[in-house]
Amino acid sequence: MNAIRVRINQTSLELIEGDITRQDTDAIVNAANSSLLGGGGVDGAIHRAAGPQLLEETRTLGGCQTGDAKITGGYNLKARYVIHAVGPVYVPDDPHIPEMLASAYRRSLEIAHQTGIRTIAFPAISTGAYGYPLPEAADIALTTVCNVMAENSHFEQVRFVLFDESILQIFNSALQQIVQSRSHRT
Ligand code: ADP
Repeated sequence: MNAIRVRINQTSLELIEGDITRQDTDAIVNAANSSLLGGGGVDGAIHRAAGPQLLEETRTLGGCQTGDAKITGGYNLKARYVIHAVGPVYVPDDPHIPEMLASAYRRSLEIAHQTGIRTIAFPAISTGAYGYPLPEAADIALTTVCNVMAENSHFEQVRFVLFDESILQIFNSALQQIVQSRSHRT
């Protein structure tokens, strides 16, 4: 499957299969943990690609609460900034968990806007080690981002970089449903 693109307001929303560390957007988002001191998955890959200065900077930030985000430089990455977003560890039937995942995306976009960032790439936060089921996580991620895009037009491009074809398919299905339900609204 190739890239999928939809336009909402002034923003192009794109889903692609790929590696978040290689994106040339102004900012990439890290699926960080609350220590901000690195970890596995996306976090480890971003720290390796950015180089040791990234850890030097994240050490000064005093961690980050679940559902929040903090920004640093991108160092050796193509992206000028990294926004470290902390998603929740999945717990079934806990009503706070979806809200915390939505908040991680919202806070990332707020910080990006405050910094003047126009293009941003997200991974599928919480869907790896944190165990969030992909269909639910995709729906929350895309609904949250689409709502922000519908409210304002600060961003030129928001890109989801999904690690393999099956994750891309799940995000694509969720996006088609969201687009359809928005077009039925009057
Ligand atoms: P979390 O701890 O928030 O669950 P992970 O890094 O374990 O974060 O996984 C989040 C998602 O990112 C998973 O879907 C995983 O397949 C994907 N992923 C892992 N490495 C990369 C990468 N380099 N680029 C994009 N996505 C990645």
